[in-house]
Amino acid sequence: MLHRDAQRGTYAGIVVVSGPSGVGKTTLCERLLKKERRLKACITATTRRPRKGEIDGKDYHFVTPAEFRRMIQKGELVEYVRLFDNYYGTPEQSLADIFERNRYPLLRIDVQGARRLKAKGYKGVYIFILPPDVKILLMRLKGRSGKSAGGELLKRFRKARTELRAKDEYDFQVVNDKLPQAVRDIQNILKRHLFKDRR
Ligand code: ADP
Ligand code: 5GP
Repeated sequence: MLHRDAQRGTYAGIVVVSGPSGVGKTTLCERLLKKERRLKACITATTRRPRKGEIDGKDYHFVTPAEFRRMIQKGELVEYVRLFDNYYGTPEQSLADIFERNRYPLLRIDVQGARRLKAKGYKGVYIFILPPDVKILLMRLKGRSGKSAGGELLKRFRKARTELRAKDEYDFQVVNDKLPQAVRDIQNILKRHLFKDRR
């Protein structure tokens, strides 16, 4: 299942994780990456400022708007979106590096980006992360370190509610209630639907 279709310029064997802001995607992905050596995080590019503790090249490639525009113009991004007044996009090079190492790329991207990759023919496992309920989602958003300012928080919460409506477009849904259980649920999905096809 892990391969590049050179003719179409697409990849098979990607793992996409989406879900509303604050649902726990970053936390879940970090845990998953520690347990699953076959996976590797696909580092995406963004024009947003780093949050406290975030490292350039590890959490994101933090770039200027001019640099991001250049990446778009040169066709270096397989998809990109504008979110919360910032741009986010997946560089083809980030995917290529992971495939070269024979690992499965883990992409933590939003609903629009996931739609775009699916429409382009990128094959793999598309997973949507759900909160146990909306109140808990708001609590997590508020509680996240490097707290968002009030306006920013409201924007993220509004978008979160819209994003939740896209859950049925995904192959799998995982509720992030207790973290260890959610990690196990994802591992089971990968075992059944991705790793079994390894060539
Ligand atoms: P996202 O990447 O989806 O925006 P984060 O991973 O940053 O979300 O998580 C948002 C907040 O929720 C963080 O403070 C994180 O520690 C907390 N969190 C994540 N998963 C859980 C969980 N299962 N139970 C309780 N808190 C969680
Ligand atoms: P954050 O600012 O909280 O790190 O991310 C905001 C949203 O952008 C999250 O839903 C995250 O999954 C999404 N995101 C991060 N990188 C990309 C990307 O390259 N493409 C798309 N489409 N979304 C991304």
